[in-house]
Amino acid sequence: MKTGTQHLYIPGPTNVPEAVRRAMVVPMQDHRAPDFGDLTLGLFADLKKVLGTKTGTVMMFPGSGTGCWEAAICNTLNPGDKVLMARHGQFSHLWVEMARKLGLDVELVDLAWGAGTPANEFARILGKDRDGAIKAVFVTHNETATGVTSDVAEVRRALDEAFHDALLFVDGVSSIGAIHFRMDEWGVDLAVTGSQKGFMLPPGLGMIGVSEKAMAAAREARMRRAFFDFAEMARMNETGYFPYTPPVPLLHGLRAALDRMLTEGLENVFARHRRLATGVRRAVAAWGMELCAEHPSLHSDTVSAIRVPQGVDAREVIRVAYDRFNCSFGAGLGPLNGKVFRIGHLGDLNEGMCLSAIAIAELALAAAGAQATFGAGVAAAQEIYAEPVARAVRPPLGIATPVAAE
Ligand SMILES: *Cc1c(COP(=O)(O)O)cnc(C)c1O
Repeated sequence: MKTGTQHLYIPGPTNVPEAVRRAMVVPMQDHRAPDFGDLTLGLFADLKKVLGTKTGTVMMFPGSGTGCWEAAICNTLNPGDKVLMARHGQFSHLWVEMARKLGLDVELVDLAWGAGTPANEFARILGKDRDGAIKAVFVTHNETATGVTSDVAEVRRALDEAFHDALLFVDGVSSIGAIHFRMDEWGVDLAVTGSQKGFMLPPGLGMIGVSEKAMAAAREARMRRAFFDFAEMARMNETGYFPYTPPVPLLHGLRAALDRMLTEGLENVFARHRRLATGVRRAVAAWGMELCAEHPSLHSDTVSAIRVPQGVDAREVIRVAYDRFNCSFGAGLGPLNGKVFRIGHLGDLNEGMCLSAIAIAELALAAAGAQATFGAGVAAAQEIYAEPVARAVRPPLGIATPVAAE
């Protein structure tokens, strides 16, 4: 019999706020009713604010982030197309695998797990591709397996400086809604995300931002698609409808989640993630442990992948946390299994929750045989959390732009 809070510190699904949970308890309604657009049209408009696009089209597909990976590919590319990808963690790895299964010719840059997207190497490859054989460049904005955030703007610069016309695909599943994402400014053509991470919802909904250039590519592309067809979805969405039954309770939850995000202010949401993440990183440093990310400039504000000391099994840390302390941490994926555990710090989270995560991690690390001074990480994070919060002015309901602190 477990009592008290079931602590959830994984990078998705994340904690669902009570108001969002309640908003999903609705009687079923007619998704062809004349007023269904009253709910859905506002969702599309507000999702565009979170993705940072005015000119793009946002669609929602029942499914998950992985579904929208597939939607992005099969709508805009042709079988056999050459695409440029990097592999530096489990999620970038899985996107490469999918691209190959769908018949793309992947030019792969293989990197250490902990590296970021290699913008310089991409620039070199794109510069050599004079006849434009490469049709798309893929970026995993936030590699959730390693806690690495890459610089999408740098990849856009590499494309522009090479005068290269390839589409820019970005996986923002564990970044969008939690850290800055500027689809228009970065010239992102396909921006993929899902409901269960920054959006604080249960799993079940994939969202995708599609640029005008990608919509044009979709009219020409010959890869087969049916369920994920952009044209039919976009046509129906214009008046607030869907080609098939959307997950209606999730849409009500999304309404409540977007209301919370826009009321807090997107700049404040991003600043909160930065602040909470900084506390967790200070705790890791106080333990004398290392993050998986190769360089501080790559540190993710939504998830930290923590390398356990030699001789300690990270699986044991996770097992003890779950069995004894009612707390879920993220596992090390693929080759990182047993070597890292991950603390997800995104979504509906505050200082107290992060301090709990750190305190429980100390207990679990000690039980797994790590040298851990109780309270060292907690105290280091408290130093960060003790600082007063500079609240950004509530931004106007437009695309998120940096605003001065009060
Ligand atoms: C979670 C995640 C995915 C997969 O999303 P699902 O919703 O589980 O299909 C893809 N990419 C990244 C970066 C993720 O964090």
